[in-house]
Amino acid sequence: MPEGDTIFRTARALGRALTDKPVTGFRSTIALLTRYDDETPLVGQTVEQVESRGKWLLIHFSGGATLATHMLMSGSWHIYRPGERWQQPRINMRIVLENAEYMAVGFRVPVAKMLAPEQLARAARIPAPAIDVLSEDFDTDAVARRLAAHKGEEIADVLLHQEVLAGVGNVFKSEICFVTGTNPFCRVGALDDFKIAELVSASQRLVKANVLEDSGDTIVTFGGKKRRTTHNADPSASLWVYGRDGEPCRRCGQRIRRRIQGPDARVTFWCQGCQPMPDGSDIDG
Ligand SMILES: [Zn+2]
Repeated sequence: MPEGDTIFRTARALGRALTDKPVTGFRSTIALLTRYDDETPLVGQTVEQVESRGKWLLIHFSGGATLATHMLMSGSWHIYRPGERWQQPRINMRIVLENAEYMAVGFRVPVAKMLAPEQLARAARIPAPAIDVLSEDFDTDAVARRLAAHKGEEIADVLLHQEVLAGVGNVFKSEICFVTGTNPFCRVGALDDFKIAELVSASQRLVKANVLEDSGDTIVTFGGKKRRTTHNADPSASLWVYGRDGEPCRRCGQRIRRRIQGPDARVTFWCQGCQPMPDGSDIDG
């Protein structure tokens, strides 16, 4: 599953290729979209904005409708010049949106719908800007309150709830817990207000740092090795704990641990030395 910062970068690239330009071509293998296009042709409309909301990518058209796509595990958007060879087979094509200069192709997009403004506002699964860590309108206080309400759940699981805050994926989850010294298995109810505020601001800071223009495609939370500008074959070299089980903690030298966590069985990495439970208990007994 792409992290929120990946979708943000995709939206930024698509925005540059499509924004303020008239649509000259539209095709799709998704019946709902072609039916919409039959009644309200997208050709001739202009793309007004492309934005990410958590893991959703939204393309807003001048006619008022929004194309909302969610990539889940399989989907991706590519941008090509006319005539350029596609990097995926045609059979994977779901959506093509063209203007005079570019062709945006959505491959294996599993979820796509056209939404009127009122439908977009009511779409409960598409996060509002106030809870999207990458939005200018991110509301840290409101998100802290939403997070604190999940008292009985483990903090690392709650960080993945897209209706609490959007844009934090499984890699960032472990990294955010590490940089705030929070044990990922600690129940939210055992964290004080200060710690919750710290978790929310760290979420925003870490994810935002990874969408800077020069940040590349690798997630970076550990700056010690200056990996930002190089393409490193080992992604965990730029991270504090994720993917580093058995290796020494970069702060205290203890062995990094790994465990499957939560109802969705997502992998979690942490350092018991730097991230103790509030009552001092050890998660591995
Ligand atoms: Zn440590």
